[in-house]
Amino acid sequence: MTPTCSQKPLRVPRTHVRPDDVCPTCGTTMVEARGQLRLPVNGEEVSVPAVSHLRCPKCHEVILRFEDARRLNWDAIASYRKQHGLLSADEIRAVRKHFDLTQGELARLLHLGANTISRWESGRNVQTAAMDVLIRLIRDLPGSVEYLRHHAA
Ligand SMILES: [Zn+2]
Repeated sequence: MTPTCSQKPLRVPRTHVRPDDVCPTCGTTMVEARGQLRLPVNGEEVSVPAVSHLRCPKCHEVILRFEDARRLNWDAIASYRKQHGLLSADEIRAVRKHFDLTQGELARLLHLGANTISRWESGRNVQTAAMDVLIRLIRDLPGSVEYLRHHAA
C-alpha cells in the first residue's frame, strides 16, 4: 500500500493574525524610534547610540527588525573591540591577507572552527583577548606562521 499524505493546510483563525507593528505585550501600535540601546557582548553591557527600532508608547516594549538587530550587534562588537583595545575586523583581515592566508587556513592554524575568522572579519562575532594576542604575534613576530603550520600539521 502506498502511503498517502492526507494532511490539510493548517487553518489559522483570523483573530491570530496581527499587524506586525503591534506591541506583542499590550497590543498597542508601536512607533518608529531611534535611540541608545544596550547589548551584552561577552557578558558585558555595551551601549550603542542611535539604533532604529519600534517602541511601544504604552508599555515601552522594544522590537528590533532583522536589519536593526544586525546593525546593533555589529556596532556593539565594534565598540567592544575599541573599548578593550582589540584588533578591528579590518585589522584582522589585513594580517590574514598580508600572510596570504584564506579564512579557512588561518582558522586551521589557530585550531578554530572553519567559520570563526569569517565571523570576526564581518563583525558578527568578536575574538577573545587570547586570540587577539595570537593574531598580533602572527603580525609582529617573524616566523610565527611557519611555526603554527608546523604545529597544525
Ligand atoms: Zn506595549
